Amino acid sequence: MICEMCGAESHAIEPRKISGSVLQLCSNCASLGEEPTYRDSIGHRAYVAQTLEKRQQKTRYKEIETDEVLIGNLGSVVRKARERMNLDHATLASKISEKKSIITSVEAGNMSPNEKLTKKLENFLKIKLTEMVEDVEVSNSKSSGESLTMGDLIKQAMEKE
Ligand SMILES: [Zn+2]
Repeated sequence: MICEMCGAESHAIEPRKISGSVLQLCSNCASLGEEPTYRDSIGHRAYVAQTLEKRQQKTRYKEIETDEVLIGNLGSVVRKARERMNLDHATLASKISEKKSIITSVEAGNMSPNEKLTKKLENFLKIKLTEMVEDVEVSNSKSSGESLTMGDLIKQAMEKE
């Protein structure tokens, strides 16, 4: 190997950072530079490529992420389940410590139950009020992720410095 600083042939060439760039230096010149960081040593372009890859892995992971949302006919499912158990609004309400008006509103579709109420209804009536759907927002961010080019990433990385 040849030292990039003095041109001497040496077996002990090591990467050192000198004024922003990494040079392969012999042991005599090594003291001129400083220990390169991981990012310096693999090179900026490789670093960006790694970042890009990590980001894509994250996106891939997100793609399979699903969200639990309330089912569309929640009100009628609650009403049918309640009627099946021969409960009136007031009785069901008291069983799960809610107001009667809450139950009637939910059954009429005038109100979406919060997470706590949904769980209470599900557990008490033995029904399922949520369904898994693919996250709509994720598919949006996925398409914007795909339009990111290497150039964009390099620009972003530069701006951070
Ligand atoms: Zn040298």
